Amino acid sequence: MILGYETIISKIVDATEISRQDIESKIEQKLKDLQDLISREGAAHIIANELNVKLFDATNRSLKIAQIQPGLNSVNIISKVINVNEVRTFQKENRQGRIGSLLVGDETGTIRLVIWDEKLIDLLKEIKQEDILKINNAYSKQNNNFRELHLGSKSQIIINPENESIASVKLTNTSNRKQIKDLVASDFVEVFGTIVQVFEPKYYNSCSVCNKKTIQQGDLFNCPEHGSVPPKQTPILNIFFDDGTGNIRAVLFRDQAAKLILNKEGFEDIKKEVLGKQLILKGKVNNNEMFNRIELVVNNIEEPKPEDMIAEMQNDV
Ligand SMILES: [Zn+2]
Repeated sequence: MILGYETIISKIVDATEISRQDIESKIEQKLKDLQDLISREGAAHIIANELNVKLFDATNRSLKIAQIQPGLNSVNIISKVINVNEVRTFQKENRQGRIGSLLVGDETGTIRLVIWDEKLIDLLKEIKQEDILKINNAYSKQNNNFRELHLGSKSQIIINPENESIASVKLTNTSNRKQIKDLVASDFVEVFGTIVQVFEPKYYNSCSVCNKKTIQQGDLFNCPEHGSVPPKQTPILNIFFDDGTGNIRAVLFRDQAAKLILNKEGFEDIKKEVLGKQLILKGKVNNNEMFNRIELVVNNIEEPKPEDMIAEMQNDV
């Protein structure tokens, strides 16, 4: 966005209460210092910067959802609510927190809003489907393949602002989602479904440095790369995953298995934790020649997103 000279001056005056005359003489001086190598607007920009005046405030940066790139600060959008999700609580170290989330869209696409600020989370109770939201001062992130807009303590939500509307929402799906019945070997996909069966986890001794499987020789555990290492008990978990179109055996190693098992010990407790869980599994479809079947080797698991819930609701209809 390009701002005119006059706009910049008046923004500096508003923000600093320095007189217009003084600002203009600073700009003149800057032009002289830089030997007229920059424009008057350019010099005004520099002065604003030196005086800590933000020229692009909230109201100047309203983006369409399709324009949101990861890593932007102070993003503003006008959007329509597609779905408000239940607020989740989480435990991180000694801290308990809440996360709110909703799916919103505009004429160019959809995006997930993730809300960290407690006051804004409280505001979620007043938000319903079809509401128009003006979001100010959010920041954008990339989470797996999805862009997200995060709202913290500096962010703002205005519900149904006057004179704002969204004609129609373009529903975008940016993932390589497939149904289980359509999977073929060497696909790299994500599937959304439910864990319907779980097998007792197996553990092996891995290298505590690189996580590769170690070879046991007497009392010693040898990593091909790191030599004799203290071994680490590492789980492998096999499950059956069903999405309503079919089911597939999925194999989870190390971190992914640990994410599911959490700290549960004992097969009964693990079953209780894992069975019936709705998840997104991402990974590669492998052909297991020994058993003549395909399997999903999982390299990431995720909690379902609002998009998934909507898709599922539509499937049910
Ligand atoms: Zn190693």
